[in-house]
Amino acid sequence: MSSPHQILQDVFGYAAFRGEQQAVVEHVAAGGDALVLMPTGGGKSLCYQIPALLREGVGIVVSPLIALMQDQVDALTQLGVKAAFLNSSLDANTARTVFGQLMRGELDLLYVAPERLLSAGFLTALEQIQDQLALFAIDEAHCVSQWGHDFRPEYRALTVLHERFPNVPRIALTATADAPTRREIVERLALEQARQFVSSFDRPNIRYRVTNKNNARQQLLAFLSAEHPNDAGIVYCLSRKKVEETAAWLQEQGWDALPYHAGLDASIRHQNQRRFLREEGVVMVATVAFGMGIDKPNVRFVAHLDLPKSMEGYYQETGRAGRDGLPANTWMAYGLGDVVSMRQMVQSGDAPEERKRVELLKLDALLGFCESTECRHQTLLRYFGEENHAGNCGECDNCLTPVATWQATREAQMALSCVYRSGQRFGTGHLIDVLLGKTTVRIEQFQHQNLSTFGIGKELTDKQWSSVYRQLVAAGLLTVDVEGYGSLQLTEAARPVLRGERDIWLRRDAEVVKKPRERRTGERADELRAAYASANEDPLWLALKAKRLELAREQGVPPYVIFHDSTLLEILNHLPQTLEEMGKLSGIGQAKLARYGNEFLQVLAKHEA
Ligand code: ADP
Ligand code: ZN
Repeated sequence: MSSPHQILQDVFGYAAFRGEQQAVVEHVAAGGDALVLMPTGGGKSLCYQIPALLREGVGIVVSPLIALMQDQVDALTQLGVKAAFLNSSLDANTARTVFGQLMRGELDLLYVAPERLLSAGFLTALEQIQDQLALFAIDEAHCVSQWGHDFRPEYRALTVLHERFPNVPRIALTATADAPTRREIVERLALEQARQFVSSFDRPNIRYRVTNKNNARQQLLAFLSAEHPNDAGIVYCLSRKKVEETAAWLQEQGWDALPYHAGLDASIRHQNQRRFLREEGVVMVATVAFGMGIDKPNVRFVAHLDLPKSMEGYYQETGRAGRDGLPANTWMAYGLGDVVSMRQMVQSGDAPEERKRVELLKLDALLGFCESTECRHQTLLRYFGEENHAGNCGECDNCLTPVATWQATREAQMALSCVYRSGQRFGTGHLIDVLLGKTTVRIEQFQHQNLSTFGIGKELTDKQWSSVYRQLVAAGLLTVDVEGYGSLQLTEAARPVLRGERDIWLRRDAEVVKKPRERRTGERADELRAAYASANEDPLWLALKAKRLELAREQGVPPYVIFHDSTLLEILNHLPQTLEEMGKLSGIGQAKLARYGNEFLQVLAKHEA
């Protein structure tokens, strides 16, 4: 019998397990139940795929992501694994064929949609082959929780697996880790006896950056041109209208950009998603409707032109970058205007008051994160209850360019008392005019030249004042009154500042003071980042990618199903001369070596000549 390690090497072409993978594989292969919590890109699939290959019979994988099953099965087939799927997208004939393969014991892995698995006929059929069931894998297990946004009622009925197949091991997997969801998964899926494998949710290959909005489109363009000229990525916007406008504008600027939102025709959505998955270097401009079930491993960047709704949203949306473990960038531009529109959206929604209150608190937590001067990796993880992460990750703006702060107690007092004196009825634009002592129509209309705060703030520019106001809102000293069209109001927390009992330190916006970039010496991620960046200009790299695309087109699969970027990078860096040398590279198992080894060796040979 093979060992887990042998399968890892021969079939998947990887040299070593990652993190908890080996422990999970051994536990499940030995017949134990497991609950696996691992971040996106952590390598959950191997946790059930290898035990399914090690154990006798077929592994049944339950997944709600019907759109992904085809690609998953294609990827396994490329590895020489006998895999198939059953869901509503198959015609009756094909479904019958797959069912026959299942019953005759011809499959290693079968992906099924939950409603199909739970149908009476299917369960009865499984009972007939119950001693030929290697395991049940329940992917996206958080779908059982009604608190998440992905609740699937059918998932509740999956306890039937435990009742009817008590001897078949079950492994539930999710990238959603908060404690209430975890408890609910255990309870709803009857996994009390299961061993829990909890990984860190850090995504060390993702670089986080948050910047102040200041002509967001141009900032986005600068970011894309400087760092991602040929890469696939996602640009998130809040509204459908903005999605379409931004996509059209990027196209005008020469980018291969496509829109995606729930209001588009289903066929267009489908087509755009397909192009994003199958082609190289497509930029998807999208609302949050895009993402769930997007399994593209080489999304190199995620940009936010608008704020997400919460830290959870931010983590999830940025988490779609860099699933393959190669360096990925996330970038977000935000300003006070975003806070106003987000609050407006929450308050004008028809959720119950209690729910709105929670949503506003979540938004506040996100604002705190945006303005934080600490390591972003650390701050994110702390929010999710993970402590003990060393700072200075080298992969976030705050660590790469330590933020300058300044003693702003006096300025905060001016800003707050200006709000107070003018009756808490005005937005930042007008308040700043008062502080700067401008004579505008509105100032004359309200006689604000008579306020004691009129003209007391000439030491700062209007940009600096708007930075002060933004940060006071983020710190909870001011709130934005949405019904009052974005007017600012004092909170209780402002009192001690006004009374001189509390000091205020604010960050200096990057645009205001340019500090020299101070890079920490990097580890693996930095090296990879450099390797990837230089690869992008290497003609051999382009030739390897072209070969991959050609093979992918021939077979009607996405390029990454042939080889991941990381594997192409291995080829580029090691320049194997023989099949044997090539077989040693990470990501090249026996099946792929046999199938594609020579084609890629030829590309290398041609290039040398
Ligand atoms: P998840 O489902 O947790 O998001 P995947 O199972 O899709 O993650 O794995 C993410 C990526 O990491 C895939 O490209 C996969 O091939 C790769 N990977 C997983 N395990 C290993 C390993 N032990 N060594 C190298 N690459 C791995
Ligand atoms: Zn950091």
